[in-house]
Amino acid sequence: MKKSIVTREGHRIRLRDLDPGDDAGLGTKAKAQARLAEDLERLRQLQLLLYADNRYALLVVIQAMDTGGKDGTIRHVMSGLNPVGCVVTSFKVPTPDERQHDYLWRIHRAVPPRGVIGVFNRSHYEDVLVVRVHKLVKEKAWERRYREINEFERTLSQNGVEILKFYLHISKAEQAKRLRARIEDKSKNWKFSEADIAERRLWGEYQEAYEDAINECTTSWAPWHIVPANNKWARDCIVARAMADRLESLKLRYPKPSVDLSKIVIR
Ligand code: AMP
Ligand code: MG
Repeated sequence: MKKSIVTREGHRIRLRDLDPGDDAGLGTKAKAQARLAEDLERLRQLQLLLYADNRYALLVVIQAMDTGGKDGTIRHVMSGLNPVGCVVTSFKVPTPDERQHDYLWRIHRAVPPRGVIGVFNRSHYEDVLVVRVHKLVKEKAWERRYREINEFERTLSQNGVEILKFYLHISKAEQAKRLRARIEDKSKNWKFSEADIAERRLWGEYQEAYEDAINECTTSWAPWHIVPANNKWARDCIVARAMADRLESLKLRYPKPSVDLSKIVIR
């Protein structure tokens, strides 16, 4: 089965070559939903094991254009998990306090501890995306960041943090559809921001910035998963499976009891 594309060091990708409407071989929504249910159950069990094993943390980074489906993915994929072992952090425009530090400071503090799944709704990648597109720092400064981010992620991955990075890939036409829905559907009105219209005009600049971020920050320790995301069901399926597969690959195990349990009698 065709899975989402995982980037490889030395192989540049071009976003326009990747179809946001791809169904990743899933076929139908019904099939995808059945598979998602299975993977959510796997994830639920693996999360318990991750917690008991206590050697690794899982950091899930989610990036996408506006309306790309970050919130929806988090809602659907995290729905079966134990909230105790799961932390979602959304990164917004830096606060005055955050601005007093380097751009990785707020990120590092939010990295999940061992045993926990941490999800980043936006991340340090905003510092080479919106910051680059809107020229919030000089080119020299954001250019340096690709290397800094790679080093940062390497430090994490060498210290027990497993990193999964997802780019939810939607088309410009799909974004138009979703923005219209935010205007027409009363329950979605709250999500609409005038800024989204201004940002949409910068679609090309953003795609270019994404392409560079993805290509420059593809390393053996933290490649990108490019997730075709026009179909929400395909998107959720791909993300859930990638998470379950990664946790499974860690060969997690329950630690040995600290005492000889056969000698213990409960009266
Ligand atoms: P939303 O995800 O719709 O709540 O919007 C959050 C906003 O914060 C987006 O417009 C992001 O581009 C913006 N944002 C996130 N991180 C940064 C950053 N480091 N610098 C500037 N803007 C940011
Ligand atoms: Mg928004």
